Amino acid sequence: TPETTLAPLDASKLVFTRTKTPMTVPEPGDPIIATASQCTDHMVTAVWKAGVGWAAPELRPYGNLSLAPTASCLHYATECFEGMKMYRGWDGKLRLFRPDCNARRMLISSTRISLPGFDPKEVEKLIMALVSVDGEKWLPKSRPGTQLYLRPTMIGSAGALGVSAPKEATFFVIATFMPKLEQPKGLRLLASTDGIRAWPGGFGYAKVGANYGPTLMATRAAAERGYHQILWLLDGQVTEAGASNLFVVWRTKEGKAQVITAPLDDKIILDGVTRRSILQLARERLTDGSSGLEAVEIVERKFSMDEVHEAVKEGRVIEAFAAGTAFFVSPVSCIGYREEDLTIPMTREDSGEYAHLIKTWLMNIMYGKENHEWGVVV
Ligand code: PMP
Repeated sequence: TPETTLAPLDASKLVFTRTKTPMTVPEPGDPIIATASQCTDHMVTAVWKAGVGWAAPELRPYGNLSLAPTASCLHYATECFEGMKMYRGWDGKLRLFRPDCNARRMLISSTRISLPGFDPKEVEKLIMALVSVDGEKWLPKSRPGTQLYLRPTMIGSAGALGVSAPKEATFFVIATFMPKLEQPKGLRLLASTDGIRAWPGGFGYAKVGANYGPTLMATRAAAERGYHQILWLLDGQVTEAGASNLFVVWRTKEGKAQVITAPLDDKIILDGVTRRSILQLARERLTDGSSGLEAVEIVERKFSMDEVHEAVKEGRVIEAFAAGTAFFVSPVSCIGYREEDLTIPMTREDSGEYAHLIKTWLMNIMYGKENHEWGVVV
């Protein structure tokens, strides 16, 4: 069957079955939150079959999936996912942050792992549907400034062994509580000098499960040495920090202040929604001194850990921070590199000035203090 005659994913066909056993929303501080396992009452599912296309999506009670032990995702990692949040604004409104970016990135990931395509707008509508049904109860108006994590996922669910593109796929969206990952005294990163997360020609740019499981060993070893995350290097070049993009604010040898982050061109790095938002805001607001902070140049280029090391030694590093949905904007206080702990300055008590300002700007958009097209009201 030609791809064009297959049924497309269509959010307008959504079938809604309300739960008969509503769950209790945990109070702030409930230990269940730290387990990242408490989901909301409902989830979205949609099944795709080769030669048929997408069946009508469902919004149904949260519950286990049923999979054949031969399911493709369990053997060949035919899986991709997204991570985003819904926010309860200070103005009482519920918002998503740039959901179009997540939906488009999911298509890039599903394509890379031989899962079916879809119109990203439909995925966005399905995410919106779950948030519309569960948002009011699970992010109550009485708790402005809170958030819930959303996990759109696709798995190869065809029950058949054989290393080939799965003939069935299941898309789902769930919403869960996540513990705060920000570190009060700054992130301690360990620059990896032996392990590699992604490589040219690989799939570092895709949000596929295969990029994460294999990193856990190194992350645990780093944790045993008192570091929070691995700073992944490739041939000495700085790439990403754990599940976040890394920004360094430094002064060049010529004395120019710069915000630098690794570029996307080699398809090694995930195109973070937080990363691209920071770059855009920084280009609009940080390059002319109007922010109250020294004007900085915004640079996306390859840079090496040796350059960072040298800049630290010469006192040219101003600050550094990791950026991502889960970590948000997390100031870095230390980078372990070749048996040495490099101290990264934090000019405020728990942050650098640039990270603090950028974080404030983003929060204002997410929680509705600044009206911005990136804050999409549910
Ligand atoms: N890099 C990696 C490897 C990630 O998993 C994530 C989290 N999705 C990020 C960066 C940050 O991306 P985002 O800002 O879209 O959360």
